[in-house]
Amino acid sequence: MQSATAHKEKIGLFGGTFNPVHLGHVRAAEEIREKCSLSKIIFIPAHIPPHKKNRITSARRRCDMVKLAIAGNPFFEVSEVELQRHASSYAFETIDYFNNAFNHNSELFFILGLDAFKEIQTWKHYPRFFSVCHFIIMSRPGVMSGDPESIIPRDIAADFDFNDPQSCYVHTSGFKIFFCQISLLDISSTDIRRRYKAGQSIKYLVPEAVEHYIKEHGLS
Ligand code: ATP
Repeated sequence: MQSATAHKEKIGLFGGTFNPVHLGHVRAAEEIREKCSLSKIIFIPAHIPPHKKNRITSARRRCDMVKLAIAGNPFFEVSEVELQRHASSYAFETIDYFNNAFNHNSELFFILGLDAFKEIQTWKHYPRFFSVCHFIIMSRPGVMSGDPESIIPRDIAADFDFNDPQSCYVHTSGFKIFFCQISLLDISSTDIRRRYKAGQSIKYLVPEAVEHYIKEHGLS
């Protein structure tokens, strides 16, 4: 992926509930880092996810599990910014935080799965976040991809132009949306929680250290 601002460090922001973090997340992040030449990816566990208000594992434990999952990968980091906020997590505020933290000297790429992108119109501050960073949308099993043009919400489609050489959609602000095909790993936190509650094995769906952590602390 080429960029007009190639001299700037490219950093991926990977937000999620991570209840729990699983191998689908870490493998996806690894492929995106390589494909998009990102210098690092920051995992950002949500504090109180606005769309998932059911009782879930505490933010602290979800964050601990992310730390265990990424341990040893020098390109992965975890940020507790949303945990410290002690309020609902909103992507716009998080992107704003990182833009300020990096003094607008880095190119930020907000990473999310196609399932999450399809709900983007329901996010707070939509569609302002397309003017503050790039977006990388990852394929996900069971989510029909189709033509990216039909995936960009209609009310904002006119604000984007397709850039052939870079194979991305460029917003009037200059920020881009990249649609990336990654290995389709049919793993979800929902399925892992279901298996855990049913007393079934979650081995090889989560990193081994996360499996041990769940055995010790539980999962809800
Ligand atoms: P849940 O099943 O509880 O909804 P989840 O497995 O989707 O959870 P999240 O923490 O909500 O996990 O996901 C964080 C981000 O990672 C989202 O943008 C989601 O689309 C993406 N993602 C999760 N699992 C995968 C996967 N297997 N492949 C690609 N992207 C994924």
